[in-house]
Amino acid sequence: MNAKSTNGTEPTQKIEEKLYQNRYLVDSGRPHVRVKEHLEPTPELKTLVNVCPAGCYSISEQGKVEVVPDGCMECGTCRIITAESGDIEWNYPRGGYGVSFKFG
Ligand code: SF4
Repeated sequence: MNAKSTNGTEPTQKIEEKLYQNRYLVDSGRPHVRVKEHLEPTPELKTLVNVCPAGCYSISEQGKVEVVPDGCMECGTCRIITAESGDIEWNYPRGGYGVSFKFG
């Protein structure tokens, strides 16, 4: 996926290249996002696999939705999508951990 330039010209940089500019300090063993136990994923959980901009969500071989939030940008998209279903637990990382944005 390419990022659109601000002046409407052709994309100049891929999203993946922009994401690479971010830095993450992972709080090992204390993930700030968890998927609640489920037998089958709800539609909301399945949606997260496609909408998380950092690709944190995936579907396991058992058909369950999993999250590895190491590259989470703390955008809150997954919180909004699951606000009513309550499929995930989401907290900000502890102080000093999580994402650092190079460009603000
Ligand atoms: Fe992905 Fe954003 Fe949720 Fe982090 S907050 S897991 S980047 S959707």
